[in-house]
Amino acid sequence: MTIVAYTCIFYFGAIFGSFFSVLGTRIPVKENFTTTRSHCTHCQHTLQTKDLFPIVSYVCHRGKCAYCAAKIDVLYPTSEIISGCLACLLYYFYATDLLQLVALAFLFSLLLIIAIADYLYLLIPDRFQLLLLIGVVFRQMTLPFTDWPTAFISSLAIFSLLFFTSLALPDGIGGGDVKLLSILSLAFGLEPTLFIILLASFSAGFYFLHSYLTKNCSLRRRLPFGPFLAASAVVVHFAQMLSAR
Ligand SMILES: [Zn+2]
Repeated sequence: MTIVAYTCIFYFGAIFGSFFSVLGTRIPVKENFTTTRSHCTHCQHTLQTKDLFPIVSYVCHRGKCAYCAAKIDVLYPTSEIISGCLACLLYYFYATDLLQLVALAFLFSLLLIIAIADYLYLLIPDRFQLLLLIGVVFRQMTLPFTDWPTAFISSLAIFSLLFFTSLALPDGIGGGDVKLLSILSLAFGLEPTLFIILLASFSAGFYFLHSYLTKNCSLRRRLPFGPFLAASAVVVHFAQMLSAR
């Protein structure tokens, strides 16, 4: 029964992940996501219902468009799988606390959309950052206690540190990443945020090295840091949950 329940929750999360892909790919380029039907970005063919089943359609079509056989970006099934896994984790940890479940589902969904947007366009739209800020404040208000002065000082310290780093190293961290980490530090505090930066830097470094060694990218290529920051924030959150048990 538990396996059936988690399979349903996973697929429910994957359906949302498919929608988050649409938001992350369309909003940054100001494409309407409510009226424009899903289509192949290569041949522009409108996708039918049978083409829209998360993960299943990708596997059945072997990762290719059913109409022009163009390769579908692995980003789409990946975001569906990640969203499905997050849904299972949230249910596992917060099934008895609906308010926390909703607040964290909103935050993690936004982090996934931000990761997709940054991966595709190397930018994190301000409207996503604003929603994330609202989500973080809402989530902190649902907790039994939040030390707001410490949270603000942590956020200010992270912002100052990264802002001056970005001035000194213009090709290093981007403005969107500075804002993202300043917002996240409101929820995480100073030390866990520094750990998020460290974890993201290591994983981005390994990814870059792997891409370079397999000759998929040059040394001059800019790397999106947002996906690594978002993933590291989620990892640190659940690590904190496990260590608190
Ligand atoms: Zn196509």
